Amino acid sequence: MWRNWLHGQLDEIEKQGLYRRRKVVEGPQGPEVNAEGRRLVNFCSNDYLGLANHPVVAYAFRQAIGRYGAGAGAAHLVCGHTRAHHALEEELAEFTGRERALLFSTGYMANLGVISALTGRGDEVFEDRLNHASLLDAALLAGARLKRYPHCDSAALKRELDVSGGKRRLIASDGVFSMDGDLAPLPALAASAMQRGALLMIDDAHGLGVIGEGGRGSSALFGLAQDDVPVLVGTLGKAFGTFGAFVAGSADLIEFLIQRARTYVYTTALPPAVAEATRASLRLVREEPWRRDRVSFLVQRFRTGAARIGLQLLESDTPIQPVVVGDNRSAVRASEVLLAAGFLVAAIRPPTVPVGTARLRFTFTARHTEAQVDGLLEALDGLPPEISGRDRLENRSASTGTPPISAGVSG
Ligand SMILES: *Cc1c(COP(=O)(O)O)cnc(C)c1O
Repeated sequence: MWRNWLHGQLDEIEKQGLYRRRKVVEGPQGPEVNAEGRRLVNFCSNDYLGLANHPVVAYAFRQAIGRYGAGAGAAHLVCGHTRAHHALEEELAEFTGRERALLFSTGYMANLGVISALTGRGDEVFEDRLNHASLLDAALLAGARLKRYPHCDSAALKRELDVSGGKRRLIASDGVFSMDGDLAPLPALAASAMQRGALLMIDDAHGLGVIGEGGRGSSALFGLAQDDVPVLVGTLGKAFGTFGAFVAGSADLIEFLIQRARTYVYTTALPPAVAEATRASLRLVREEPWRRDRVSFLVQRFRTGAARIGLQLLESDTPIQPVVVGDNRSAVRASEVLLAAGFLVAAIRPPTVPVGTARLRFTFTARHTEAQVDGLLEALDGLPPEISGRDRLENRSASTGTPPISAGVSG
């Protein structure tokens, strides 16, 4: 029975063009990686600042293993909370301008832990439709009523808040949307939250380290502080190049999470060496602003080049630059053609993105060269129109002008 069911499910996934295959990477992350038996230019990692294999970070990691060994040995509340974790929490609090910060093992777990600790039955959680899966899952796990508002539509959110009957209200949004690269309307979200007595939580997985003054993320970009964005989530596996996550906010919020966030309490602490490596990468984030300038320069170069070849990009100034292809199989085919040309690019399909908006998601890092970006543009220019997203552009302007992105070809 289970055997047949599994086969049936896998067949169905394949039929819908949704089958996912892992590529085995040999060696470290970087602008080039060895995978599929070849050297590929990598345009799909989240290592935006090029810190995942930075010698200073790797050295700190090795040194800390000498001092702390490999594993934390227990949860934070038992005996796994080391001086390394503690120091990193203090530095992250200072970096984000919050009273305190609390480490979690992953961003997924941070989101589950925070939302399920703060809300429950009878409460309402308002989320942007394009929020990361972990934020949506968190509201479901919490048992709160989940209300999804149209992407970045703060007016719709306000209307929903006005008719809300929940005991308590939490608004949760990505700061930088992970599959679109655009920014949440943070000032409007903060204002609505304040007017309606809701708590605002921003998951800035793709903003921290990359945008805003000193790399302090999307809330810093809009000049918002702890009172405006009381719950801030950051991840350490992206711009920081290591692994793990944190929540930053008021001393009371953090103390409450230590008591009540189940994904904090009931799990082993990060290896202390990961915390030490992250302290080193945080220093680089702060001391080497050229990394942010460099990514942003490469992104602008890509956008200018894309416009020249008529490739329609989503509105984004962040290192996340997607091209919506629409159809699942076309997106996969495009990534295969790019692979053959020596470029590693992810085809992102539902349910990661809405049905009909399968896309190529290009990400840029401080370590890419201009020649690599130009090479990618050249390869994109050579893609057949039906898989490049360019025919969509022509269809669009021929018909209704600017339909929503979800109006793409389905299948
Ligand atoms: C990647 C990501 C997460 C998950 O973080 P991990 O540390 O990889 O579990 C959460 N939220 C957003 C917006 C992300 O992009």
